[in-house]
Formats: sequence, C-alpha cells, structure tokens
Amino acid sequence: MTAPLRTTSRGDHPMNDILTAALDAAGRGWPVFMLGRSKRPVANCRACRPVVAGGQHDPASCGHLTCHGFYAATTDPARVAAIVAAVPGGQLAVRTGAVSGLLVVDVDPDHGGTPSLIDLAVKGIAPRTLQVLTGSWGTHLYYRHPGRHMPSRPMPSRPGIDVKADGGYVVMPPSIHHRTGRAYQWRQGSGDPVEMPPALIAACLPPPPVTGAPPSAGRITTTRGRGISHPDKLLSAHLDAVRLAPEGKRRTTLYGAARGVARMVAAGALDHTAAVTALTAVGEQADQTAREIRAAIAGGFRDEGIAA
Ligand SMILES: [Zn+2]
Ligand SMILES: [Zn+2]
Repeated sequence: MTAPLRTTSRGDHPMNDILTAALDAAGRGWPVFMLGRSKRPVANCRACRPVVAGGQHDPASCGHLTCHGFYAATTDPARVAAIVAAVPGGQLAVRTGAVSGLLVVDVDPDHGGTPSLIDLAVKGIAPRTLQVLTGSWGTHLYYRHPGRHMPSRPMPSRPGIDVKADGGYVVMPPSIHHRTGRAYQWRQGSGDPVEMPPALIAACLPPPPVTGAPPSAGRITTTRGRGISHPDKLLSAHLDAVRLAPEGKRRTTLYGAARGVARMVAAGALDHTAAVTALTAVGEQADQTAREIRAAIAGGFRDEGIAA
C-alpha cells in the first residue's frame, strides 16, 4: 500500500520529500500530521470550532484530516498522503509520547539550550541516539518512550531544553524552518532511537514537590484521568505564579499558567469558561493587553490539545 504513494523524484519537489518522509515515519509506527507553514497548528474547520461543537466534540475521534492539531496524526499511508496534500507548504510533525513510542529531548539554542546539552553529555545521562539538527540550529534527541507517563514540559533546571513526550509533538525533517529558511535534517549515522537510561528518565520528570516552596506553575503537574485532589489550590497556584512574575516574564508565565489550567480542564477538574475567565482576570492584573491574554490562553490550551 505504501509503495504507489512514494515519490521517486527526491530533491526536486519539497512536498514530495515531505510525503516520502511522512510515509517513512508512518512505516516506523510514528503518527504524523501537518502544521501550517509557520509551525502553528492548522486551524480547525468550522464544524470543529468550539462555538459550533460545544463541549460535545471529542478531538481524538473527530476523524477530520487536519483538525485538532496532533489528534489528526496517523500512521495510515493513504491518510498520511491526504494530510500532506491538504497542507501544501506546511511542516511535517510527529506526535511524541506513548502513542508513538517516542520521547524527544529538544535542545533550543535560542533559549540557552547549548550549554545545557553539554552539561547533559558531561553527566553521561543522554546517550547517543537518533538526532535531528533543527532548522534553528537546535537538536532533537529521539529516545524510546520509557512506557510510564512522561509529560511534555521544560526539563527541570535545564533552561532551553524541553521534553516532548505525552501530549506533545516535534517538527520533522525535511520541513523548512519558517524563520531561518533552513531544513530540519537527520544527523548522519545517528542510528535508531535508543532506550533512556534511568538517570535521563529522572531528569525529564518533574521534581518532587518541595514543601514550603513558592508557587510555581511549572512544578505542578496533573495526570489526565487520574483526578486532581485540590483543584482550588492548584488553580490559585497557577494564578499566583502570574501575579508574582516579574515584569518581562509575565507573558510567558501567563502562557505557562494557561497550559497548567488547560490540563485541569482536560482532567475535568475545572469548567472551560471558568478557566478562561480566571486566566483573563489574572492577565489583566499582570498588565497584559487583551490581545496578549487571548494569545497566551489560546496558545496554552492549544499546546495541551484543547480548543481554547
Ligand atoms: Zn474539523
Ligand atoms: Zn473535529
């Protein structure tokens, strides 16, 4: 089934290269989907917008080719071909987490990632594995997902390094980075994804809660479906993080809080409208414009796979 969809004209047509790469990934059991040209998820169709769909719509079983971000990801070759064709000029992305068996360590030099990568290598906890050189001179290290729940989040204490696992995705080669115009590329000879040693798994997980520590949205994590014991305390911690954020950090803190609150909505611990109202109010208290607030909430919710 795969063969007839493949292109033989590698190199002379970017979308054929994207299709080839997408089918190769799908053949490895990695669900792929397309992002827009500028790396943002493709907008949902009218029927799938929350105002039309209300709370009744399950993104995971929607079935539309390009709606709901990574929920559209698939390994079915015919469907992969249709998705690639539906987003010309888009970027190819692979869903990470247990669903694909992948955990990607994302080192972003734009955010100070390089020294931390050296730090990781020196400590010997990030073994050699399949690697991508990203279009922005970053590195994606592809590991085998360890099986337990691994949230997608910034790696604790290592600025510029993100863990892309459950609930996440990464852009794949040969997508073209929208700012640099450079293609993502596989590092030659970097092999297949290897198992994560226990030290690397530990480095990727949230640190255990510290009693008496100041509230931090980044430290508090929830597990979908497992229930949240103190939703009111958790919500105030997220909101306090925004209130306490220094000027210059408020926008990113609001985005982080939006992600945390989105996870609460996903876990059924908080009503969607109440979540947006609370985040909007705290954003206003932190002197964010209406536009910045809307963008932070939409981005946070989207990155947790929830329509804002
Ligand atoms: Zn749709
Ligand atoms: Zn839908």
